[in-house]
Amino acid sequence: MTVIEAPVRPVEVDLSVPGPNGRALLASQEANESSARTYPRRLPVAIAEASGSYITDVDGRVYIDFLTGAGVLALGHNHPALVAAVQDQLTRLTHGLDFPTPVREEFKRNQLAMLPAAIRGDMKIHFCGPTGSDAVEAAIKLCKKATGRGDVVAFQGSYHGSTQGAMSLTSETHPKEGLPNLLAGTHFAPYAYCHRCPLGLRPDTCATNCAQLLVNTLHDTHGGVPKPAAIIMELVQGEGGSIPAPADFVQRVAAVARELDIPLIVDEVQTGCGRTGTWYAFEQYGIEPDVIIASKGLSGLGLPVSVILYRSRLDRWGPGSHIGTFRGNNLAFASGNAYLEVLRRENLLDNVRAQGWHLLTGLDELQQSTSLISDVRGLGLILGMEMAAYPAASVTASEVAARVQRAALRRGLILEIGGREDSVVRILPPLNVTRRTTNDALAIIASAVTTVQAELEAGRG
Ligand code: PMP
Repeated sequence: MTVIEAPVRPVEVDLSVPGPNGRALLASQEANESSARTYPRRLPVAIAEASGSYITDVDGRVYIDFLTGAGVLALGHNHPALVAAVQDQLTRLTHGLDFPTPVREEFKRNQLAMLPAAIRGDMKIHFCGPTGSDAVEAAIKLCKKATGRGDVVAFQGSYHGSTQGAMSLTSETHPKEGLPNLLAGTHFAPYAYCHRCPLGLRPDTCATNCAQLLVNTLHDTHGGVPKPAAIIMELVQGEGGSIPAPADFVQRVAAVARELDIPLIVDEVQTGCGRTGTWYAFEQYGIEPDVIIASKGLSGLGLPVSVILYRSRLDRWGPGSHIGTFRGNNLAFASGNAYLEVLRRENLLDNVRAQGWHLLTGLDELQQSTSLISDVRGLGLILGMEMAAYPAASVTASEVAARVQRAALRRGLILEIGGREDSVVRILPPLNVTRRTTNDALAIIASAVTTVQAELEAGRG
């Protein structure tokens, strides 16, 4: 495995306060970039360069990066094998619309070969515009056209993107305020978020009633939901707070979709390309989806590319049914091909499972020692730590999460926040993360949580 470890850095620097160079860049950004900007608001870091699991900011401070470009950088930053593949491709061809090229052909073959044998021979691939949202749009259009139906079922807690169609399928209501006329015919079914069961039940005694509710609704002549064009599901809700679905839930949703001839779309934008320990998360659930959406990790290097893979019977598209200029990023294809070589050579899926388990175990132990963590969960290297409120000081769970994120940043670890009320600290290491880095990160998380707890107890809330 290519090991790129951080240099030792002075620990007395408070990394949550930007240095002078960082302050200037962040101020410039605030002055004339859109108010819709997000990450630097909570993580005031101006990046100079990065390598592997580490980022160096413009003031020379080094951070462990467990945000990895929102789960994009499968091999961390600038993996040498991927950089070499891109450099080689750069002088041949960068942009190729949807014309066939050798590197695109290899990418396509590689991607189809990564599918389970049972469905591989029946799958087609469509290259979408560069983002995950664009692939979500493509998947919905494909299923509408194939079924002639218009409604779509998504799940509470879902995130599918920020374009109007994808945002319609995203459950969070706040970003939709002031945006009338989003996609009509969108329905949200409860997801198996067992930690906060949408039906008020307990996982040890329930009968996966959330799935049963959807099954009943779709069968019920008075259920209020016409037979939909598709059901779209994340197997681990990512932005929703790193929530892995239980197998029974997924299997029952897949079964009703099959029974009623409703295409099942799995949105693997975040869970795909190795992040959960298999190439796609659905492989661990014993289901065979009709459409797979992939994007973030495909190139391994953060180069924009997205695809949908789907059953050939759904291919009712005519020429130009879903187009876009940026469907031929040959640099991303070259990088994606090199990524798969590294993945195989270095048994990275094993590493994902091993490091994921190690992190989960460490976080579980931490949970035993604090009242501030209400749940620890994850699959492979998509992990979450749901924080609890501290009622004695009237501090909400989301404030606790923000404090822990800040305390971790101060100690040199970049973590993401998500989930309901932003109460989940999300952990998304690169898939080739080493044991040393996971141990460093665990130590920082423990120190951050312990410090926040001590501050709250001391009345410095
Ligand atoms: N689907 C899922 C599951 C995602 O996590 C995301 C991005 N976080 C998207 C779709 C949208 O991808 P993009 O931001 O590239 O449009």
